[in-house]
Amino acid sequence: MSVASVARKRKPGTSQESGAAGSNGQPSKMMYYFGRTKTEGGGKQKQLLGGKGANLAEMTSIGLPVPPGFTITTEVCDLYYKSARKLPNGLMDEVARNVALLEKELGKKFGDNANPLLVSVRSGAAVSMPGMMNTILNLGLNDEAVVGLANATGQKRFAYDAYRRLINMYGDVVCGVDHELFELAFDKIKTKHKVKNDTDVPLEGMVQLCEEYKKVFQKHFGKPFPQDPLKQLELAIEAVFKSWMQARAVKYRQVENITGLLGTAVNVQSMVFGNMGDDSGTGVAFTRDPATGENKFYGEFLVNAQGEDVVAGIRTPLHVDEMPKWNKQVYKQLLEIKDKLEHHYRDVQDIEFTIERGTLFMLQTRNGKRTGAAAVKIACDMVEEKLIDEKTAVLRIPAGDLTQLLLPSFSPQAKIQAKKEGRLLTVGLPASPGAAVGKLAFTAAEAVERTLKGEKVLLVRKETNPEDIEGMHSAVGILTSTGGMTSHAAVVARGWGRCCVAGAGEISIDEKARKIKVAGKTFAHNDTLSIDGSTGEVMAGTAATQVPKLSGDFETVMIWADKYRTMKVRTNADTPADAKRAREFGAQGIGLCRTEHMFFEGERIKDMRAMILANTEKDRRAALKKLLPVQRKDFIGIFKAMNGLPVTIRLLDPPLHEFLPHDAKSQAEMAKELGVTAAEVRERVSQLHEMNPMLGHRGCRLAVTYPEILEMQVTAITEAVIACKEKKIDAQAEIMIPLVGTARELEMLGEQVRQTIANVQEKKKFKGKLDILVGTMIEVPRACVAADEIGALADFFSFGTNDLTQMTFGFSRDDINTFLPDYLEKEILPRDPFQSLDTGGVGQLVEMGVRKGRAAKANLKVGICGEHGGDPDSIQFCQKVGLDYVSCSPFRVPIARLAAAQAALKQGGADIGRKGE
Ligand code: ADP
Ligand code: MG
Ligand code: MG
Repeated sequence: MSVASVARKRKPGTSQESGAAGSNGQPSKMMYYFGRTKTEGGGKQKQLLGGKGANLAEMTSIGLPVPPGFTITTEVCDLYYKSARKLPNGLMDEVARNVALLEKELGKKFGDNANPLLVSVRSGAAVSMPGMMNTILNLGLNDEAVVGLANATGQKRFAYDAYRRLINMYGDVVCGVDHELFELAFDKIKTKHKVKNDTDVPLEGMVQLCEEYKKVFQKHFGKPFPQDPLKQLELAIEAVFKSWMQARAVKYRQVENITGLLGTAVNVQSMVFGNMGDDSGTGVAFTRDPATGENKFYGEFLVNAQGEDVVAGIRTPLHVDEMPKWNKQVYKQLLEIKDKLEHHYRDVQDIEFTIERGTLFMLQTRNGKRTGAAAVKIACDMVEEKLIDEKTAVLRIPAGDLTQLLLPSFSPQAKIQAKKEGRLLTVGLPASPGAAVGKLAFTAAEAVERTLKGEKVLLVRKETNPEDIEGMHSAVGILTSTGGMTSHAAVVARGWGRCCVAGAGEISIDEKARKIKVAGKTFAHNDTLSIDGSTGEVMAGTAATQVPKLSGDFETVMIWADKYRTMKVRTNADTPADAKRAREFGAQGIGLCRTEHMFFEGERIKDMRAMILANTEKDRRAALKKLLPVQRKDFIGIFKAMNGLPVTIRLLDPPLHEFLPHDAKSQAEMAKELGVTAAEVRERVSQLHEMNPMLGHRGCRLAVTYPEILEMQVTAITEAVIACKEKKIDAQAEIMIPLVGTARELEMLGEQVRQTIANVQEKKKFKGKLDILVGTMIEVPRACVAADEIGALADFFSFGTNDLTQMTFGFSRDDINTFLPDYLEKEILPRDPFQSLDTGGVGQLVEMGVRKGRAAKANLKVGICGEHGGDPDSIQFCQKVGLDYVSCSPFRVPIARLAAAQAALKQGGADIGRKGE
């Protein structure tokens, strides 16, 4: 990310929280003190002080034992980058004044040879970026102060240990001296003193080590280790600012979608020492279990260690439950602080602490990251404990994380194991969550056949197409080597909640030889792979899975969500089984029933092909006649499952050539079945071939050319409605005409639909009301622009945002993966527009479509049925533009219910206040 783009994304700080800018553009207040003398900042100032700084101030204010210090604001970081990486004038004077305050409060002097003050310099942006930026400990030590520290503490070895850590960290972080070089020097000392552990090196060795480290520093940096403490401090502060732009931090922000920040703050804090002996220590903890959410203190600590040792994994830490055996008093105090923090922040806290000679100090607190399951449990528990109210609970659970509760997943241990053993082969796109383990099937037919024989198979294809549907359905998972997040495989798999990894480009598939090659290894049809649809990981062999149980808490959260949301949630479902499952997940109707999927099963495809091959309308009608009863049966099944709830049925949409086989062998088989010549089949296939099928003869254009197809489908729907009504099943049909771009299309086809309904009603002598709505899918940009004319003719609109995105951007959804990574990396696009609605462009068309459509017809029902209907950010946009409902895959229904509630609460002015931690 460029400096300019950071500046552009800058959100103006509110006047209350930002230091007013001076005349030279420099903030008049560059740092905020926290300590017993005074505490200038507070927990609400995360944008200005960073999460760490704001919370250090907050903890100080509520009386917790925090070593005093001061925070240099993110505005200073911003200024540093705006002025070509130069620290602002006067910064170090203000630092010196604040250091003087610290000296006074602590009765120590910076760089003193009697009782020196030492400080840490710690990074901390508004949003936590764990481990991404730099921290330097023990600043202020030099050849004299180390003697002072030894004298003041009476611990000579400790003092030199602290000094060597400073030279190492400072060399590494500030001056770019490779950490390994220090390690080598340390190893030599350890060998010389015949010890293995750092902690066993005697005083004499530590003193020698400091000398060696200084030599390493000088040799590789070209200058001696700086002895002036204020100079050390200045360069350390600058190093933290620099770390804001180092590659891994930039990448992290990109991956986590963190934008709009000024930069990092710098916390200069007086040191406390966990490495002063066996009565000292350091640790990290969560106030509740972040994996399960259980209300149990959860953490680890190390005796006689300094902060970085816990994270670096040099020694194995102890569980906090062991702490009472070590120091009962400190443990008790820690538990009290845990409760105090939870009551204060009203959320789970992730804390860092240090014990210096039996005295506890708090060094950090922030809202703890948690799994989806933990988020649900914690929210429910905290409502019960009266820590938060229902609305807060609803807002606090990341809706997308509910996926983790609904699908099986690989156990974390299994994954660690796979990585360790080199079985992680590649990472594709996490197209449809879940965990699947199976042998490799290379064609849809093979997948069906082997599944019938009781095998578990993964369908491995370059890309799938509608012909593969049955094979995809029988497979436990789908793996493709091309195609994006909205490729056929991905969309279909998500619809079923079937695990899918798409676009795993490193896999080369040899369908003929029934082999794949990846990571230099070859796997054949009898080899087993494990694929993780939540992360895109592809592993060799069998990884163990775990099936989550839906808890009562989950139900509670859903009840709350339904209470606060205003939009309805429907589902995209093509079969009675899907419809039933979605209903169990709380769907309030079907927003998209794709009729084409009904034509692929078993015998039906034969009649469908006969219809396509027919040369005359008469022959076509004869074939359609055979399809009619099977369609009717499907619709009856779906109406039964959805009894009383609306079902939007889309008339035939894909180009006809998708229903025909493309290889010679299958064409010959088809010819034989239909009693025609192979040449005839071949000719029809080539006739139907299009250069751009997605912009070709499809959607309502099919009905324009072949009105008899529309007639058959509408007849089947109407007969199904009548059959249901006669059995007291409340069928609510909504007929949707796809891909309409002009009012005339809808006028003509809508008339045909209504006429057909009337004809059927008369023929069946049905006297009751049918109440079948006729509407259109809005997925062509022109339809949004002409939505007033179109709206006047429609009972409802349903935005098909997959095609709408494709046509608005001119991005092929099946090919976007070739350039999307560059677009994301270069920040041309913030996210894949097929996953999350492009609110600035496609969303504007949606907004216009809604506005114009309702202007023409005030009671126009409007929904969305693209993939975006299950994406929380897109759902928030849908709320804003006033949609009546969103529709998504069955497995995303609970997510959409929660996201819709959050959107409604936010629109009503609720404060989410969760991101800055
Ligand atoms: P990160 O953001 O990577 O967690 P921190 O700034 O929190 O980095 O520093 C890492 C660790 O260094 C802390 O958890 C703490 O153990 C130690 N540390 C930082 N500042 C001090 C201090 N003033 N006194 C003692 N230990 C400190
Ligand atoms: Mg930390
Ligand atoms: Mg479409």
